[in-house]
Amino acid sequence: LAKDPVCGMFVDESPSSLAATVRGHLYYFCSETCMMTFLAPEVEVRKLAWMTALSFALGVPTLILTWFVTLPSLPQNLVLFILATPVQFVAGRRFYRGLWHAVRERAANMDSLIAIGTTAAWFYSTVVTFAPGFFPEAVYYEVSALIIGFILLGRFLEHAVKRRASDAIRKLLALQPRTARVIRNGEEVEVPVEEVQVGDLFVVRPGEKIATDGVVVEGRSAVDEKMISGESLPVEKVPGDEVIGATMNTTGLLKVRASKVGADTTLAQIVKLVEEAQAAQAPIERLADKVSAYFVPAVVLVAAASLVGWLVFGGQFQQGFTAFIAVLIIACPCALGLATPAAIVVGTGKGAENGILIKGGENLEKAHRLTTVILDKTGTLTRGAPAVTDVVTAGSMSEEMLLAVAAAAEEGSEHPLARAIVDKARTTTATIPKAEEFEALPGFGVRAVVGGKQVLVGKRSLLTDSGVAIDHIEPVLAKLEDAGKTAMLVAVAGQVEGVLGVADTLKPYARETVEELRTMGLEVIMVTGDNRRTATAIGAQLGIDRVLSEVLPAQKADVIRRLQDEGKVVAMVGDGINDAPALAQSDVGIAIGSGTDVAVETGGVVLIKDDIRDVATAVKLSRSTMRKIKQNLFWAFGYNAALIPVAATGYLNPILAGVAMALSSVSVVTNSLTLKRFKAR
Ligand SMILES: [Mg+2]
Repeated sequence: LAKDPVCGMFVDESPSSLAATVRGHLYYFCSETCMMTFLAPEVEVRKLAWMTALSFALGVPTLILTWFVTLPSLPQNLVLFILATPVQFVAGRRFYRGLWHAVRERAANMDSLIAIGTTAAWFYSTVVTFAPGFFPEAVYYEVSALIIGFILLGRFLEHAVKRRASDAIRKLLALQPRTARVIRNGEEVEVPVEEVQVGDLFVVRPGEKIATDGVVVEGRSAVDEKMISGESLPVEKVPGDEVIGATMNTTGLLKVRASKVGADTTLAQIVKLVEEAQAAQAPIERLADKVSAYFVPAVVLVAAASLVGWLVFGGQFQQGFTAFIAVLIIACPCALGLATPAAIVVGTGKGAENGILIKGGENLEKAHRLTTVILDKTGTLTRGAPAVTDVVTAGSMSEEMLLAVAAAAEEGSEHPLARAIVDKARTTTATIPKAEEFEALPGFGVRAVVGGKQVLVGKRSLLTDSGVAIDHIEPVLAKLEDAGKTAMLVAVAGQVEGVLGVADTLKPYARETVEELRTMGLEVIMVTGDNRRTATAIGAQLGIDRVLSEVLPAQKADVIRRLQDEGKVVAMVGDGINDAPALAQSDVGIAIGSGTDVAVETGGVVLIKDDIRDVATAVKLSRSTMRKIKQNLFWAFGYNAALIPVAATGYLNPILAGVAMALSSVSVVTNSLTLKRFKAR
């Protein structure tokens, strides 16, 4: 059996099953649609590359033979016809399809403009070649061939920077643990995770991933659910609690009864949500198409008007028809195909230089219209790892001593809260004493003997169960908890010596970024799977007043859909698996590069440097790029539009046409290059 590269299903390798060779590798697919999703982008890029090559291979000799070289004994125009015709109808076939579509939809686009303009040039030249005398002697074969070449080159550039959407799904599926330790007839057996049934009991050792969704029946442990739920701190699990497949067990041994398997698990549901959101993404309306929608009917009208004008006032069909064709030829801008891609190539390059990876130009084109930025909390605005934020002494010890003693007791623990205390102590004190008789009590804390005295570090219940009085420090605990922090009490020899406040902390520049986005006119919202108390506390630190907490992955995507229904253009910034559906749903998904592979694959923009300020930079870059695209379109259309009145007289000068084509291309390229001066901050 082979694994399907798109859906991860196991597929039969028999000759009758669906298979295809891509880059020398033989792949098997579960269904035809599955194969199409995998192959379509690959095939499209390759086709574009070949068609671009064909256009230039024939178009450049056409240009040289038209302007610079005269063939001694061959009929020059016939040779040009032979060179230009395959470009027109083989490489240019897609534009005719676009024209046909536009006619049916009664909405002109860029394709229709190209099809009309190049056909007019080819037709005019062909009449000159085979029926000389009807039109003024000139051929425009090179114009049609090169326009097609440039447009295809632009399309190729755009496709080449695009990534396959199915990669996100593949990364998600890879998170699933491969095996589970199921209890069969009283014995632990390791079986492939696909064989686990609802109701099966399985064991999860410390440091292992939980095989599938289930309910704890035995054992206590802290489970790191950050990636799936957005909870910043590990969640204590006791019998009766639910656990999620693919989350990480930290300290204790758990016995779990499987409650959901296969397509029903939380992870499988996220995969489904991402797939649905990606499939539902509407293609954006390109600016070049929008301009063409008005330009094409206008040009056709002017062409028709000049034909009618010559017929009515001059009574000359030949002159009128020449004018008609000439207007169509001159109206088709050579640089149109480059106007958008040239700016986007420079813009994405500038992004990469600043650590902002932009997958595909449509993300840049969309980001300038953003109205709302939604930020995930854990791992995006905060570091996603607990740190000691408060040290409160309640006895005779100094802060430094308190930390040293607590760290000594916690040194043997693998719990993330314990790691936070040890890390903090290392920065404040030179030596951490050695502990004896260390004992971890999963769900409560630790007990150890330090310097001959019994030390307890943990929750309220750990101390009260051992008969330590804590009433007098309740106000301190309440204050820490109200601020969304976890309070860790420290008792030495039966006396409370102090409290350590542990919390997830803000990343550098998180506050500044929120403020900057707001000054850029964007609405800022924080959405998190974390509990309300922590979320509100972090929101207050950041100055974000719209905070949505305890939001499940599916609800994150729903929040975005609702905003989009209100007509808002939404960017989602996130790092976790739980953010993937929202990243796929949003207009521009921005993933934190240090986040999960799944987020990075789902996002259209990736911030490689893990610097939250780059969210604002990405939006600014998008705005600058869009400005360039608009200027480029002006230059692309400008020269040609200015020559339309000349063409309408019927005296089209091929030199003027050539100059317009060359000038507009040069203007577009040089104007795009000025985007290199973009400053990140
Ligand atoms: Mg997160």
